[in-house]
This record gives sequence, structure tokens and C-alpha cells, in this order.
Amino acid sequence: MTQDKLKSSKPESHPPPLMRAIREAMAGTESVQERLDGFATAIQSAMSVRVASIYLLRPGAELELSATEGLKKSAVHKTRMKPGEGLVGHVALTARPLNLADAPGHPLFSYRPETGEDPFNSFLGVPILRGGRTLGVLVVQSKQSRTFTEAEVEDLLTVAMVLAEIIIDDERVGGKKGKLKGITLAPVRPETMEGKAFAPGLNRGTAHLHLPPVSPANLLAEDVSEEQARLEEGIAVLRASVDAMVSGEAASLSRASKEIYETYRMFAYDRKWVGRLREAVSSGLTSEAAVERVRNEHRARLMKARDPYLRARLHDLEDLANRLIRALSGEKVGPGNRTIADDAIIFARELGPAELLDYDRKQLKGIVLEEGSATSHAAIICRALGIPLVGRCEGILDLIETGDDVLLDGETGTVHVRPVESIIDGFKLRMTVKGELTKAYDALKDQPAITRDGRKISLQLNAGLLVDLPQLDQAGADGIGLFRTEFQFMVSDFMPKLKEQTALYQGAIQAAGDRPVTFRTLDLGGDKILPYIDPVPEENPAIGWRAIRIALDRPGLMRYQLRALVAAGADAHLRVMFPMVTTVDEMIEARALFDREVDRAVNLGLTLPKKIEVGVMLETPSLAWQVSAVCDHADFVSVGANDLMQFFFAADRDNARVSDRYDPLHPAALSVLKFIAHQCDRNNTPVSVCGEIAGRPLEAITLTALGYRTLSMPVTGIGPVKAALLKLDAADLSATLEPHINVESRLSSLREIVQDYCTRNAIPV
Ligand code: PEP
Ligand code: MG
Repeated sequence: MTQDKLKSSKPESHPPPLMRAIREAMAGTESVQERLDGFATAIQSAMSVRVASIYLLRPGAELELSATEGLKKSAVHKTRMKPGEGLVGHVALTARPLNLADAPGHPLFSYRPETGEDPFNSFLGVPILRGGRTLGVLVVQSKQSRTFTEAEVEDLLTVAMVLAEIIIDDERVGGKKGKLKGITLAPVRPETMEGKAFAPGLNRGTAHLHLPPVSPANLLAEDVSEEQARLEEGIAVLRASVDAMVSGEAASLSRASKEIYETYRMFAYDRKWVGRLREAVSSGLTSEAAVERVRNEHRARLMKARDPYLRARLHDLEDLANRLIRALSGEKVGPGNRTIADDAIIFARELGPAELLDYDRKQLKGIVLEEGSATSHAAIICRALGIPLVGRCEGILDLIETGDDVLLDGETGTVHVRPVESIIDGFKLRMTVKGELTKAYDALKDQPAITRDGRKISLQLNAGLLVDLPQLDQAGADGIGLFRTEFQFMVSDFMPKLKEQTALYQGAIQAAGDRPVTFRTLDLGGDKILPYIDPVPEENPAIGWRAIRIALDRPGLMRYQLRALVAAGADAHLRVMFPMVTTVDEMIEARALFDREVDRAVNLGLTLPKKIEVGVMLETPSLAWQVSAVCDHADFVSVGANDLMQFFFAADRDNARVSDRYDPLHPAALSVLKFIAHQCDRNNTPVSVCGEIAGRPLEAITLTALGYRTLSMPVTGIGPVKAALLKLDAADLSATLEPHINVESRLSSLREIVQDYCTRNAIPV
């Protein structure tokens, strides 16, 4: 129904007859099976159809007839089909309603004699959706050959939504209300789910659902016209807030960021979206339930879309739906404003950086997401704050309830929900061991990392946000070896202004005191996408238009950033380096841009840095073979081993299928790393490694043996790497490895040799 039709129709204040019947069916029944039976009866009589049936999806991915009024009762819990099989299976597969006047004439019709369904001509099937997943199919059939009206389809969708909530609610409480006879939709408690470890750490805590589900008790509106008014009020509040975003803050921002908010506004005023919400409320749902229903429909469709553009739109719509739910509840959220338990583990589908920081950090013990990625903003912040995060736990929101006991393993990516004693005991033991290790590392904090044969290794931090800075002192780091400036751009809703950039860089320099801070200019592109700039679709983003390539083609953004860096470095030591340089010419060009900004500061009479060093990141194999040449133009070299290894082994670092196929301790990789270290030495150019391998003890001592004396790593690496270095004789390990690092080597990895060496020499790795 369109918006205008809705406006002209007389508002109904009583729930439609079907909803009344459903309300009655919900009241007083104890078991879910009884409720399903009651639903089937209510639908059949209120819609004046011959058949109403409920099919639910079992764990083996088969749809099972679970209740019916009109088909043979003996077929209940017997008739089964696969998604895609028959008309019911087709509805499950497509997650869309199917409305047919002549069902037996449809090519997908499959005859099931045990149900006795052959005399029924018209067929309407709607998916039972929750969280974008299909739980089952609701079907009505009648003898007479007719298509069902739009209003009937709408009504059945509403009933399907109520059903979905009841089914899931029953599973959540462990079937206390009486489980579905013979059906398990989700395995019953306790649960263990494997996701992906995106931020390390082990914690036990209490589950907190970021967005609590609409409880079945609040699904149906008491008074439809009152509910319609409530929805209109919520939409008005939502629109006003989106309008404010466009005209207020965003007005002074770049064109790109403004466009994003305009798109946002377009959604808020989208007649289709709002129309679907109004229809759902008119069919008897509460406004919250209506938002949830429309969201489920969108998710079910768009989750199938592989196109990143469509998926991004899905996120925009999700965000808008969340805002509307908040507007309806009148809730106001702001930093540190959410009420949670003291040991909360947050469960969400996806979490934006602002939403994450709404929680009080002291109470946060972990995050579990159904989506997320290693490079998502939530993951970046969690790693900085030392909060474990496990992502890609698909379906976990349907198993969890606020208040559940949770063990979160950010090392392996495992989530134990409502764990049994034996699991808790084992987990506690691991937590104790980890706690003791942490204490041991803390004790080393103020000790310099000097190997037994007297090599002093500088252990520095990889950082990028304000929240990282306290870690410098907490970990006893010797400086910031890699400051990823793009993080500030990625976690904000708008392009950071010159002043904001300068303030962050100044903050980092001040926090470091007399320790060095190495700023890496914007490394955008690839998987690092800014929310306010539409990504340019590319076949191979990792080797596409990214980092220095964007900066040199569109120098405006980098010049602006270099200006902020020169300003932040006033009267201090400023170190800047460029990412993804592939040829010496690129370095020359980038350096010239930097010099221009220094000249500008000179001309304007601004205070200049006391000392300036401009370096290069060595992340591409081509530059490895031009180290000497690039050293003529670089004051230092920093090996970005994450990228260097991905290009060296031609294995996408973000693709779980291939990212672990190679070992960075392969003699070929070590030959390149050794070559770089030696060439830099010959040119008297300081060299460091700042990829993830620098933070792993076994790899870090190997790099030390190759000649590296500066390692920059995530905060969690500093303690373990220092403990290993203190026990290392670097020259001795170097002599052990030397015979194997050459083009003649037939080994596929030196890992075992290094591991054996550590065992023999009691080096903790
Ligand atoms: C690297 O590539 O090793 C690196 C440190 O940079 P990033 O991980 O930010 O690409
Ligand atoms: Mg890199």
C-alpha cells in the first residue's frame, strides 16, 4: 500500500481480526507446539482459508510440516522437504512470498499424498524470517482458484514475524515453556561457537545484547491507530536528526561526506521503506516489531548479495533502523552512557566505533559480532584497548540472552555460551597462566631489550588512535614505530579537519616525550575504506589504486595531511614515511610534496620541527631490489612485512583461504629480509620491521638474527618479544640459520630449526 493510500484510509483502532485471533492463540497456551497448532487454527478461520500450515527448518536444513489445520494431521512431523524443493521449499530458498492462483499448475509443485493437499488450488506461502535468516515457511491454501490480496499477504507476513519471535524465544529459554515436539531449531544450551579472533585476550563475562530483541509480548499493538501515531512520531524524530546531520555538522565538510549524509537522508525519506513500516503497523504490529520485520526482509534479500555496494546500502539501512528504534524508545545515547553489567560482553551484528565507545570501557570485557573483520573499526579499537573481540559468529544472536554466562577466547576465536563446569575450569586455568605471564612481562617493562650478546633492540608500538597512546608507557615501548594515520579517517564519520589531524599528531608526539614517533601517511584503498568516500570498485584492490598511488594521483589530500604533520612537529622531532612505494621515482615525488609543505611553513614564518626525517616503507618486492637506490632518498626504511609477504607469496592477507599458506620463515622470504637489512646497513640507513611478524617472539628473534635492530609491533607483542630477546644470543642464532638462508636451500621453512634452537637454549617463544 502506498503512503497516500494509507493516509486516505480510515485508521483502524482495533487490531484486525487475524491479529485478534493470534492474540487469543498466544494467551494461555503453555507449549510451543500448542501455540503453533493454535496459530494454524486461528489463521485458517480468520483468513477463511481451507488450509493453514507451518513448516519449520530443522538443523539438517530440511523443512518439516510442524503444524496444520486442513491438511492431514498424521503428516505433521513427517512431511519434509529441502529448501528449493516444491513450492514451500521455493519460498524458503528465495525468502519471498509466493502467491499463486493455480498451485498444482506451477512447475515446482510437488505432490505429497500423505498430506492430502491435491484439491487446493490457491497457495500463499511467506517466509518466517529472523535476523535475515529463514526459520520456516507459513502457508495458506484454499480450494477456490484466486490470488490472495496484498492485505492478506501483509497479514500473513505479520503472523510469520510473531511466529519467528516465539520460536526463537522458546529456544532461548531452553524450552522451559515446552519445546517444539521433535524439533530443534537451534541446539539447546550450552553452546560453543567458533568465530574469528579479531582482537586477542581471554575473558569471562556476562552477555549483553547490544540491541535487545523485541519480545513476543511486545509484538502486537493494543490499539492500531495509537500505534500508527507513535510510528509517525518516531519517523519525524528520525528525519529531524538526519536533517540536522546534513545541514549542521556536515555542511562545512567535503562534498563526498555530504553526499553520504544526503544518501542517508534519502533512505529516511524513502517512501518504500516508510511505506513498508506503515503497512506493518496497520496490520497490527507494534512500531518496533514493524522495524524489525522490514529489517528482516531487507537482510534476507541483501545478505545474498555479494556486491559490496549493495551490502554497504544494507548497512546504511540497518543503521537507520537502529536509529528509529532508539527514537521510538526515546533513548538518548552518548559516550559511556549505556547501562551494562560490570563484566559485560557485548553481542551485536556489527558495531560502529561510536557505538562501541558509547560503552564504559572499564566494564567492557569483550565483544562478539555476527559480522566484523580483522580490519573493522571495532577490531582496531578493541586491539588498542586490549578488549578481546571474536567476529563472524553467524547466528549467535539467536542463541544468546542478556545475562548469560560467557567465556570469550580472543586467541582462538571461540565463544562458550552458558558453559559447563569442566569448560569453565579449563578456561580459568588458561586465564591464570595468561595473567601470570602478563605479570612477568610487566616486570620487564622498564628493562631495555638487550640480547645476551649485547645487541640493543628497540621495541616500538604500532598505533593510530588516541586510545593507543597510554599503551606506550604501560608496555614500556621505545617509541611508536608505525602510526597508522588512516585510522583517524576510518573511525570518524566525516573527513577529519586540518585542526583535528594536527591535534592527534601532536597528542602522539607529546605522549611519546623524547621517544620517536613515525607517522605513516594515509594508507587508503584496498580494504581500508572511508565511510564518507564511495569506494572505487576494483578487481584486485590489494594491488590496485591505494596508498601512495592515490596520494600522488590526487595530491590534495596528502598535502593537507603533510601540512598537519609539519604543524604538529613544531619544535619537535618529526618522522614521516610513505606506504606502498613501488619505485624510487614515487619516493622522490612523495618527498618533493613533503618538502613543499616545509617550504610553505618557512615562507609563512611558522615554527618548524627541530629535526625532520623522511622515510620509506618497503612493502613491495620491486623496491626490495632497489634498496640502495631508494636509500639515496630516504632517511630510514621500514619494512611493512604484512604487505611485503602478501605480494612476495602472491597471497591475499585478508583472504582466510590463502593468507596462512606461506610461512614468513620460508628461506626465500628470509633471504629477501636479510638482503634488505644488509643493503640498508651498507648505506648507513636505519631499518626496522613493522609488520605483524615483528610482534611474534619466534619471528622477532629470527629478524634480530638477520640484523634488524628496531621492531615495531602491536602492544601485545612487546612483553613476549622482550622476554625472548633477553635470552637470545643473536650472533649464535645467526650462525645457526646462515647455512639455510640462500637460494640453494631446499627447506620449506626454518621454523622447526628456530623452534629447536629456542628449546635447547631455553628461549621462551
Ligand atoms: C605492513 O604492511 O606490514 C604494515 C605494517 O602496514 P599495514 O599493515 O597497515 O598495511
Ligand atoms: Mg602495509
